[in-house]
Amino acid sequence: MWRSHSFRTAISRRLVLAALLPLLVVAVVSVILVRGMLSDQIVSSNDLSAIALATQIEQSLEVPKAVVAPYLGQSYQEILDTEDPGQHWRDIIDGTPEIESLLLLDDAGIVQAAALETRTGMQGAWFVGLDRSRDRTVASSLATRKPAWSDVYLSPMTGEPALSYVVPVRAGVIVVNLTLSEMVVFDIPEELSALPVVIDGNGVPIFYPDEIVLAQRPNVRSIAIVDAVLSGGTLAHGRYTWQGTEYLGSARVVGQVGWVALAMQPWKPARETILGSQYVVVLLIILAATFAMTLAEPFSKRLAQPVSELAAYADHVARGEYGSAPTGFREVELQRLGSALHDMTDAVKRREQDLAASARQYRFLVESLQAIPWEYDMDADRFVYVGPQAERLLGYAPEVWTDLDSWAQTLHVEDRDAAVNACVMATGHGGDHNIEYRVVRPDGKVVWIEDVVSVHADESGGVRLVGVMIDITESKEAARLRVAAEAADAASNAKSSFLANMSHELRTPLNSILGFGNILLSRLAGPVNDEQERQLGMIVRSGNHLLALVNDVLDLEKIEAGAMLVEVDEFDIAELVSSAAEIMAPMAKDRGLSLDIRVPEAGLLVRTDEDRVRQVLLNLFSNAVKFTDTGGVTIALDTVNDHARITVTDTGVGILKSRLEEVFDEFKSMGRPGDNPQGGTGLGLPISRRLARLMGGDVTLSSVEGTGSTFVFTFALTAPSSDDGGGAEVVSVH
Ligand code: ADP
Repeated sequence: MWRSHSFRTAISRRLVLAALLPLLVVAVVSVILVRGMLSDQIVSSNDLSAIALATQIEQSLEVPKAVVAPYLGQSYQEILDTEDPGQHWRDIIDGTPEIESLLLLDDAGIVQAAALETRTGMQGAWFVGLDRSRDRTVASSLATRKPAWSDVYLSPMTGEPALSYVVPVRAGVIVVNLTLSEMVVFDIPEELSALPVVIDGNGVPIFYPDEIVLAQRPNVRSIAIVDAVLSGGTLAHGRYTWQGTEYLGSARVVGQVGWVALAMQPWKPARETILGSQYVVVLLIILAATFAMTLAEPFSKRLAQPVSELAAYADHVARGEYGSAPTGFREVELQRLGSALHDMTDAVKRREQDLAASARQYRFLVESLQAIPWEYDMDADRFVYVGPQAERLLGYAPEVWTDLDSWAQTLHVEDRDAAVNACVMATGHGGDHNIEYRVVRPDGKVVWIEDVVSVHADESGGVRLVGVMIDITESKEAARLRVAAEAADAASNAKSSFLANMSHELRTPLNSILGFGNILLSRLAGPVNDEQERQLGMIVRSGNHLLALVNDVLDLEKIEAGAMLVEVDEFDIAELVSSAAEIMAPMAKDRGLSLDIRVPEAGLLVRTDEDRVRQVLLNLFSNAVKFTDTGGVTIALDTVNDHARITVTDTGVGILKSRLEEVFDEFKSMGRPGDNPQGGTGLGLPISRRLARLMGGDVTLSSVEGTGSTFVFTFALTAPSSDDGGGAEVVSVH
């Protein structure tokens, strides 16, 4: 698992890693290189030491040859004769450190002359006469007449390793004894601490810094490099262990004598030198790493700084604190990130504003509904939301409904159980439902509510009811009224058809009553006495009244049933008005009333239902006469706006202002105070107005009680055509 850490730490770690990895590689390579280079260097300088040693020995071996060179062509006798070897040779020896002594031997190997180093304190003369013929080298040289080198031996005079060079002259030999230590003068660098060792052809050291070792005469041919050179090689180097110590050695052949010049140094100090150098390298690397780590901290801080700033800014944005994004970074990517954040903030801001606006709009919409939206959490049994309209529409603050029970308490007691059950059932079946119930407002008023409820599952699997309570009181009331109206309509229709049938059925017997009444009155059936005539007159008047009533009722029913048809004829209305007035003239005269008729002399042609116009005129004229006691009646005809207008003015009893419209209502005949109520049917005016309206006009009234009345009857000059006319000149009005 990755533990989360700061960006700064991440950078810091990577920087350190980036520095340490190459450092580590450099370290390993350096350590290996240093080791290789140093050991190569040590080996090659050791080689050089061995070569120098060998060269040195070789040069020393040349010294005796040079010394004896002047004498080679002479016999020992001649040499003795020409110079005093005692003195001359001593000078040579003293000037040549390698040479310990010089001997001049005759052919028999007898010492004829000798010279020794002065420091030995010996006289050469002491050696004269000594027989050296048994010396192997001397014998060999005398025999072969060739120069010969002796093995190394310990000088009887100095006790040091020495060797002899025997050179034959024309007669006799010269023996040059050499001190080995003087020949092996080393020029090996101190710091390498190499030891010079000289080994003879048998593998036995003839020179070794430690005399005790030398005295032991160990055979060192077992050392591989020594063996390699003795077996014919010229130079060999390598590490080996000898007498418990590890050495690095270089072995070089010494020409002429077949020796080995060995430069050896203990490996330990060399290795320590190498290790020391490696330690130095490692130390330097550690220093560099520490330095890198120290620098990584401020570097990472500097690198992480802008990222921290941007992150802090993003945090602010997340909390809704919109500032402006940090800018001024030098890095292109950070600039891009900064401006992207800036744009993002703008976009977020805009979206937030849009969101707020749409939330406002949504809230406005929800709250301006003439209904109460609500949301109920079934599991928690609490209302999550109740629209504020609850207060206005039902008189309950939204907070009142906390749970189902508090809601149920506001319901009409009869609806409570059903409403609660409906909610619970709906939830159980996961279905939506509409329920109707009554809410009792705090002021006691009852409001009908239709609750449109739907069931929703929320994200956590809980159940939520969401609904809208709609006030349906008005539509409930309207429905109730509609039912009542429908019932009333049905009743009215029944009444209409009953009246129509009854009227029809009444007319037939009534006509025969009137017919026989009139026959009796006209005495066609025999004589009638006065009393019988009076009673017969009452029968006929009552019969006529009843017939008029029946006819009016029939007309009214026809009109109401929409069955009254306007039959269109062309006629002169002036003529009609005059003739109708004529009919009323005798009655007016009887009552002592004047009758003034004003119609255009030229007449006025109209196209409408003549019979109906006449019916209206007669009704108005007879009323005018009937309800006027003194004065008279004026009837005038003129036109207004394509309408004929007949104005009937009387000077009669007039009508109470409050009753002006009532006279147009059916069966509202007021009659005259004191009149026989049977005098009128109370249907004349209502029928007249309806007929006038059928003909595109009206009957209106103005009256002053006690002064008189004016009725104005208008109708269209040409009857309005019906919607379904189809050419037929018949109109009907419902
Ligand atoms: P009726 O058959 O009773 O006359 P109408 O419908 O013609 O029935 O008249 C209704 C009532 O209007 C009358 O009873 C009367 O009271 C009143 N009325 C009608 N015409 C006049 C008028 N010219 N002057 C006074 N009252 C009138």
